[in-house]
Formats: sequence, C-alpha cells, structure tokens
Amino acid sequence: LKPPKRFFCAAEFPEKKNPPGSGRVFSGIQPTGVPHIGNYLGALENWVALQNQYPSVLYSIVDLHSITQPQDPNQLRNNILDMAASLLACGINPEKAILFQQSQVPEHAELSWILCCLTSMPRLRQLPQWKMKSKQKNEGCVGLFTYPVLQAADILLYKSTNVPVGEDQVQHLDLAQDLARIFNNKYGDLFPQPHALLSSIKRVKSLHDPSAKMSKSDPHVMATISIADTPDDIALKIRRAVTDFTSEVTFNPKTRPGVSNLVTIHAAMASISVEEALLQAEGLDTGAYKTLVSEAVIQKLTPIREELHRLRSDRAHLEALLAQGNRRARELAAPVLAEVRHRVGFC
Ligand code: ATP
Repeated sequence: LKPPKRFFCAAEFPEKKNPPGSGRVFSGIQPTGVPHIGNYLGALENWVALQNQYPSVLYSIVDLHSITQPQDPNQLRNNILDMAASLLACGINPEKAILFQQSQVPEHAELSWILCCLTSMPRLRQLPQWKMKSKQKNEGCVGLFTYPVLQAADILLYKSTNVPVGEDQVQHLDLAQDLARIFNNKYGDLFPQPHALLSSIKRVKSLHDPSAKMSKSDPHVMATISIADTPDDIALKIRRAVTDFTSEVTFNPKTRPGVSNLVTIHAAMASISVEEALLQAEGLDTGAYKTLVSEAVIQKLTPIREELHRLRSDRAHLEALLAQGNRRARELAAPVLAEVRHRVGFC
C-alpha cells in the first residue's frame, strides 16, 4: 500500500480537533522505571488535567512496548505495579480515567497485526525514532521496528480522538492517522482521526548531558530526577547538573542548553513563566540559582513522593485496581475488534 504523499500533522487541522467535553483521550507510558520529571512535566501533569476535561479517558501501562528492549521478568512485574503507583501518586484518578495494563487486553496485539499488514516497510523506516534507536541498538529487534504500528493500534482500538504526546511522538501519531485513513478507505469508515495534544513543556533534558532528553532508561544516575527521589537526592543531582563556564543565568537552549534546562525545570515546577524564573535568578550565579531550582522541585515532588511511598506498600490494592481497569478497557476494546475482524473477513 502506498502511503499518502504528505503526512499531515494534527496541528494543521485545529478546527477538526475534538474540544474538551467531547471525544476520547488515550495515552500510554512504558513500565521501564519510576517516572522522571521529564515524564511528569511533558506528559503526566497534562494527563491529570485531561481526566477532568474529557468524558472518556484511558491511560495504559504499555508493557508490550517495553519488551522492545530486554527486560528482566521479575523486574518487569515490579515495574508494572510501580508505574501504577506512580500514576496514582501523580494524580491519576481511576474514577475518572481507566488505568490499565496493555498486555492484559489482547485486542491490542491482534489489531496491531492487522495494521502491520496495511503498513509499508519504507513508511516505518523513515520514522526518526527508528533511525535513532536502531543506530543505538545496532539494528534492534523487529518489535522495535514495528512498535509505532502497535501504538497506532493502542489508539485506534478505543476509537480515540485525542492523544496527549510528547514532541518525540508526533510522527508516530501521524502514522496512526494514516492507518486510520488507510483502514477506512479499504474497509469502510470505522476509525476517527486521532489528534495530538502537545504539552507546553516540549523536552526536559538530561542533567548529565543536556544535549540528550531525560529518559527512564538512561543508566547514568545523575541524569534524571525521578518522582521517588528524596530532597537530598534532588539537591545533589541539581548541584551536579552540567552547565557551562558562564556564571550568569540566561535562557538560550541552543547556546546554553544546561542552564536553560534548569530554567525550564524551575519555571515548570514553580508554575511560573520563563521570564519570571529569570527575574528570580537576577543577581544569582548558576551555583546559587541551582539552590532555588532544587527548592522548587522539592516542593512540587514532596507530596507525590510521600503518596508513592504509601501506595507502593499495598501491592494487593494496586493489583485489584489494575484488574478493574483491564476489565473496563476490554469492554471497550472487544466490540471494536469484533467489528474489525468482521470487516477484514475473518468472520
Ligand atoms: P524510556 O527511557 O523507557 O524510553 P521515557 O522516559 O522516554 O522512557 P516513555 O515511557 O517513552 O518515557 O514516555 C512517556 C511519556 O513521557 C511520553 O508522552 C513522552 O513523550 C514523555 N516524555 C518522555 N521523556 C520526556 C522528556 N525528557 N521530556 C518531556 N516529555 C518526555
């Protein structure tokens, strides 16, 4: 199948976006460790706001995606529960959003296979994440190549209309839009066009290497601040954050990525603008400014860390909560997949 010549981005069709009050929101996060402040500011804070704005919201712990990288089974089992606890601690409310584990809804994998058969190899090969990850992993597994199709299946399975994503995922959402179009053209209208909801924080950078994004799977302990970090951990990591040889605090992510990343974090954590953060930094050198940034991060994360600690101690509660979410997700997924199976000609 030939992909359309040009891949449209949701932002080009603002008038077609489902406004708050209608539509269905879907998003996912990999159980690859406790979320960091990049996940929090770039995704989770927004997820919490969206559950209050849309009538139907699903958040998935996408364990099928996580095995595109090697995982220790015991660690993965723990990470799934840890992620459930983390999402709840950040403010996800299971009364407002369906919180579930992707692998427990087998419809995801089946729809993904069907969509794989509608996707051309060149379409996947051009995706920047594949180019970057396959280079790092020396090619990587087939799952790493096709996971954007699984992401499309995750979204389309619930006929989702709005997908909060980070900037790094926009091309994958374009693919989901294309696959909805391709399926609808071939088998008749079924899937609505899903649109991106971009968060205002585009990318929080690694504290160790501000040219890279902050990432859960970054092995460098000083690179990320997790939501479970203690005030001492946070202060130490920010004190050690890589900046440059200029002591003045200014904001220019291109020429001064390290200090600009701290300004971004400060502004987002203290809920102020970048301009206001720079005003507060006036007269401070980067060393003194780091103390101010630490204070803002510690203040924001302390209640989250305490709630996470409480939730982690009750595994049975987390398991029961996920089981309930899995059931609710499956109730929505099953009729859509039954319709897909019928249209494709399986029954
Ligand atoms: P991994 O290292 O396992 O790939 P990750 O930290 O990149 O994990 P994901 O689970 O892939 O995180 O993504 C969860 C959500 O967090 C996505 O919406 C993604 O866009 C967002 N996100 C991830 N890293 C950042 C970051 N550094 N800044 C802003 N948003 C981010």
